[in-house]
Amino acid sequence: MSPSRDRSVLGTISIILLFLTAYILLGETSSLDLTIKSYSNIYAITIFTFNIIILFGWLAFGTVVGMPLAVLSIIISIWAVLHSGYYRYSTFTLSFFITIFMARYFLRLKNRREQSFSLKLEKIDEEMNILSNERDKRKVEIRAIEEKLVRYSTLKDVSESLSTVLSLDMINNLIVEKASNTIAKAGRTLLFIVNVEKQELMLSASKDGSQIREKKGDYFDHWVLRHRQSLFIEDAEKDFRFPAAEIENSKRVFRSLISVPLMSENRVIGILRMDNPMEVNYTQDDLRLLDIISDLAAVAVQNAFLYSRTQELAIRDDLTGLVVRRYFMERFKEDIKRAARKKRALSLLILDIDNFKNYNDRYGHAAGDLVLKHMAREISSMVREGDIIARYGGEEMALLLFGMNKKEAALEAEAIRKRIEKGSMMLRRQKMPLTVSIGLSSYPEDAGMEEELIKIADERLYKAKKEGRNRVCSK
Ligand code: GH3
Ligand code: MG
Ligand code: MG
Repeated sequence: MSPSRDRSVLGTISIILLFLTAYILLGETSSLDLTIKSYSNIYAITIFTFNIIILFGWLAFGTVVGMPLAVLSIIISIWAVLHSGYYRYSTFTLSFFITIFMARYFLRLKNRREQSFSLKLEKIDEEMNILSNERDKRKVEIRAIEEKLVRYSTLKDVSESLSTVLSLDMINNLIVEKASNTIAKAGRTLLFIVNVEKQELMLSASKDGSQIREKKGDYFDHWVLRHRQSLFIEDAEKDFRFPAAEIENSKRVFRSLISVPLMSENRVIGILRMDNPMEVNYTQDDLRLLDIISDLAAVAVQNAFLYSRTQELAIRDDLTGLVVRRYFMERFKEDIKRAARKKRALSLLILDIDNFKNYNDRYGHAAGDLVLKHMAREISSMVREGDIIARYGGEEMALLLFGMNKKEAALEAEAIRKRIEKGSMMLRRQKMPLTVSIGLSSYPEDAGMEEELIKIADERLYKAKKEGRNRVCSK
């Protein structure tokens, strides 16, 4: 209870008691003897007045003034008792003060109890606050652990899916997809792979990156490539590490960025980058995560490189670089099916160098090898990109022309024959005469199966040889 409330309670008790005093005094005096009555009146009025003074003193100034006044009143009451013998008034006055003191005492006790109770309440409140803070902290920690668990399981998933795929294209797309799923923030995800031959970056996969102009990487990608370390830009406009012109250039594209190099055997083989037009979009945690993904990605990309290299070695002939006969036959089968499905034509050329034995006999086997290389280069330079040329036999080559009917293929064959004939095959600083004979068969005109088509082309090649070599035979 507050002190002001305490005082008002005491005041109220005093007023009630004063009224009681007045009432009793008046009642008593009316039945007394006259001489005694006058004395008793004086005492009664004195005590009554003192009580009022005590009361107002108490009400106005509190206990400090009320107490001395009360003591004074008691002394006067005792004095009055000793001189008048009117015990009743004095006893009543004493009982009045005793009541006030007791009321005061109980009020204090109550206050003290209430105070200790409110102290306890405050303590409990405080403890509850601490506990609820602790609980909130734990909640945040649990959420962080849950997030970490999700991220680790995502990383496990990334690593598993990357290890099951061997095609480089699929791996590139998977890296971008997994990175943007794991660090699920709006913006672009880009993967650049280093082209070893050209020594430049090549955009290999992207997400939400339809408007990428710099397919060979921008200033920041080259920064990562050069420094071989990750890059974190919270807000490009406040980052003074880079030239102002570059920041100005990048303004339209991004404001925050995280980028990491894909390292393999101490070489940068690619760059994985995420950027966003908003500032402070990424955290250090995101960068760490991207770094882990880039490590997994680097292993996967390197494996895919090695796999495709092995595949290449298995299907390519060492000397000429053309595909081997086994691979050619597989593709031939597939292409006939494709041609049937798409209702397209397909032509097969079998080329054989004329009198090749003479080259070997005259200039040696090594010179003969050079002729084979020259032939392979010449034919490769003449055909379309998807056409398959194989080293079909010792010095025989086969060429598949998808979509070409007999007429078109005959023209192509003739062009090749002429090119070889006029070509500049030099041996020992001498221009060597070099010619080829070509047998041609076409799907669906001549046959529907690859064995049949090969047989027919072979027969026509034989016919070309018989008819005098250096010619194309298509009938
Ligand atoms: P033709 O005009 O009838 O074709 O006469 P040709 O001498 O070319 O006869 P053929 O096609 O039968 O010749 C095959 C020769 O090609 C046999 C071999 O000496 C040569 N040859 C096969 N493979 C290689 C090779 O890898 N390197 C070299 N230098 N010669 C090869
Ligand atoms: Mg031959
Ligand atoms: Mg020959």
